[in-house]
Amino acid sequence: MDYISTRGSAPALNFEGVTLAGLASDGGLYVPREWPRFSIDEIAAMKGLPYAELATRVMMPFVKGSLTEDQLARLCADAYGSFSHDAVTPLTQFNEQHWLLELFHGPTLAFKDVALQLLGRLFEEFLSRRDDHLTIVGATSGDTGSAAIDAVAGRERIDVFMLHPDGRVSDVQRRQMTTVLAPNVHNIAIDGSFDDAQAMVKRMFGDTAMTGRFRISAVNSINWARLMAQVVYYFAAALQLGAPYRKVAFSVPTGNFGDVFAGYVAAQMGLPVEKLIVATNVNDILHRALSNGDYSAGTVTATDAPSMDIQVSSNFERLLFLEGSRDGLALADQMSGFEKTRAMRLTNAQREGSAALFTSARADRSDMQNAMHWAAEKCGEIIDPHTSIGLHAARAAGIDSSIPVVTLATAHPAKFPDAVESATGQRPHLPARVGDLFEREERYDRLPGDYDAIAQYVAERATPSA
Ligand SMILES: *Cc1c(COP(=O)(O)O)cnc(C)c1O
Repeated sequence: MDYISTRGSAPALNFEGVTLAGLASDGGLYVPREWPRFSIDEIAAMKGLPYAELATRVMMPFVKGSLTEDQLARLCADAYGSFSHDAVTPLTQFNEQHWLLELFHGPTLAFKDVALQLLGRLFEEFLSRRDDHLTIVGATSGDTGSAAIDAVAGRERIDVFMLHPDGRVSDVQRRQMTTVLAPNVHNIAIDGSFDDAQAMVKRMFGDTAMTGRFRISAVNSINWARLMAQVVYYFAAALQLGAPYRKVAFSVPTGNFGDVFAGYVAAQMGLPVEKLIVATNVNDILHRALSNGDYSAGTVTATDAPSMDIQVSSNFERLLFLEGSRDGLALADQMSGFEKTRAMRLTNAQREGSAALFTSARADRSDMQNAMHWAAEKCGEIIDPHTSIGLHAARAAGIDSSIPVVTLATAHPAKFPDAVESATGQRPHLPARVGDLFEREERYDRLPGDYDAIAQYVAERATPSA
């Protein structure tokens, strides 16, 4: 499979190339040149497969030429063996119409593990072929940092430098990063905000003194391999609810548009999807874009669902490209306009194309609390604040009652105990596998919010590229 950039001027790459590159050299994102499509019979034959085997079946068309089926199967078995539930992403029921897809049984209790556990293993496979070394640099305000650290801890060819704003992540979130003591894991608390940390990471990607010596890579959801791994659980859930002979709708708590974009990919591959409901909190740029074409960034409001507190959704560009007649140069113009003014209108083609599959809803603080309360009182399910936004949107979407609606549960409630307790009166407990988090030894360094200090720190500890 070949991959092309959404901005039309970077070279096409194969799967190995896009996995190691992350962002395309023209600033765009990689998408497959065409969608592989399964027949009804092929989808029917996937029913009942163990998760790792289903994952191999669904992802194989995307990795052809870079991995054999045996290699992919081995990586999937290993990655999904790290989950604490045999079904990996089990489906539970709220009521006659509403279902919950639990994506939080990985090592760090959020759905990001599903993709990052595989991505860490893909990196290792491709780096060992090239006898090369990777330096991952990231900034995190929450779940990505811990999921990335867990996925690469102890891997010889990778160093990870993760910046978090000192004192501004929750204790659970910080400890999930700083108690990983492997020598290739470097946690840095910086004196500043998340935006300061993010700005320094961006600067490093453009610093040729650094990129000339080290193969620097990101692990955020611009990486195609992450989206690809997330396609699998849409198949897993729909197959349990009657696919390919019955349509299913999905409601997805959305920030960077990665998770819900994977649902769009599943539909392009032939999975019968009725609707994808994009659920946002009050940071609602995507809801405005999908409901009236207004894609304009404001300022971020902090909410109880911090992983969805975003201004700009990087993966939305992929949808704009695909629904905008795949015209990369036109999109490059549209995006450079947006980067200057922080605002743009979707074209008619982009709006009409998106409306075929997507709908959206926005949840404020009381919508979130009501949804958590309803799930606890009426269904005996404790859900986290992010998931509650999805559930609110699922119930508000007006989907025909004959169609099952699956809300994606993106985090374990114990990651956000205070918000859950205030809505439900019940305090969720950490699962046994991380129950000793608060007894573990922590290790991290504190640095000033100063680019040169960070760059020097990384340069002293990273391994140069081959
Ligand atoms: C990252 C995250 C989201 C948002 O997912 P996107 O792919 O960025 O849209 C939602 N909920 C939780 C708990 C997350 O960690």
